[in-house]
Amino acid sequence: MSHLMNTYARQSVSFVRGEGVWLIDNQGNRYLDGLSGIAVNTLGHAHPRFTAALAAQIGTLIHCSNVYQVKEQELLADKLCELSDMQEVFFGNSGCEANEAAIKLARLYGHGRGIESPAIIVMEKSFHGRTMATLSATGNRKVQAGFEPLVTGFVRVPYNDLEAIRQIALHNFSVVAVLVEPIQGEGGICTPDASYLQQLREICTQHHWLLMVDEVQTGIGRTGQWFAHQHTGILPDVMTLAKGLGSGVPIGACLAAGMATGTFKPGNHGSTFGGNPLACVAGLTTLNIIEQDQLLAHATQLGLFIKQGFITALQGVQGFRAVRGMGLMIGVELDRPCGELVKLALTKGLLINVTADNVIRLLPSLVMSQAEAQQLLNILCPLIKDFLQS
Ligand SMILES: *Cc1c(COP(=O)(O)O)cnc(C)c1O
Repeated sequence: MSHLMNTYARQSVSFVRGEGVWLIDNQGNRYLDGLSGIAVNTLGHAHPRFTAALAAQIGTLIHCSNVYQVKEQELLADKLCELSDMQEVFFGNSGCEANEAAIKLARLYGHGRGIESPAIIVMEKSFHGRTMATLSATGNRKVQAGFEPLVTGFVRVPYNDLEAIRQIALHNFSVVAVLVEPIQGEGGICTPDASYLQQLREICTQHHWLLMVDEVQTGIGRTGQWFAHQHTGILPDVMTLAKGLGSGVPIGACLAAGMATGTFKPGNHGSTFGGNPLACVAGLTTLNIIEQDQLLAHATQLGLFIKQGFITALQGVQGFRAVRGMGLMIGVELDRPCGELVKLALTKGLLINVTADNVIRLLPSLVMSQAEAQQLLNILCPLIKDFLQS
């Protein structure tokens, strides 16, 4: 019997090694990785330049407390701010921690403005993590059930519904921030209207609310820009990052700009591991390789290729609804629950994910080649057709 807590329904496969977009199991079988550890392995597996940079750092300095100056942390903060136009960064170790920092920052900002019980507007079908505050912010009852009492101070509206937010602005004077994913990942690769973020930006500015974008899944080149909100030209007040930032080394970040800058003072927040030299070198090297190898343009181009491949193969097939997403964050929506496709794909040597019951989710590494993407389509499209026609 396993001594692991039973928190995951796991597939019965165990990987021992990776090479690029391939994973090798303990029987020697090879699998094409269409998921990248859920948007984590930005550079694929065992990337030579990434591996060398981490090995060198491990042999130099892995950890050093935040009560001292940490040069790698400052360099990564500089680089993230250069790429995002944000002004300052707090480092943690995961997405939920990045969002915890954002939620705390918003409350502190609200108290600073004399608001006694600050509230944050959050979305239906959102996902922000599984700590108490972030599961309370999450718009999915399954994530919350059994963990009541929830953290208060969240007001929920439908995603992509600006009118609902304008209504709240009329009568709720405790709101201090809006927390939103530029594309909802766990919610089913839901993309809002093209002007949604821009209009949210206007509403937030008008009411002195912080616009906080959760880019934990969409950030770090995933959608073909460094950060997904950059497709819209806006600047948020707070942005959270994690998943792809360290290419597999745990790291999270909460960035602030504009009205949010300077909110935290010594003693307000902290993390023992957050921003240690190893994690920050992982972040810096990830960003450098994306830049050197022009992986943003590649993610855009390959994403279009994959989406077109699905449309060509599935157009007119009964039960196929839509292909959504940007860059290498792609969802294929079917008209019925399709969780069993995960296992079927696994037996064919392909790793995929299904979210929101009926959306096949692909989050391949940014180093996937077009030939590998074609292989992915060659395996997955017939599986989907057979599934829908059975
Ligand atoms: C995965 C995810 C999180 C939570 O990240 P963890 O590292 O698992 O805590 C938060 N927000 C979004 C949008 C995510 O996709």
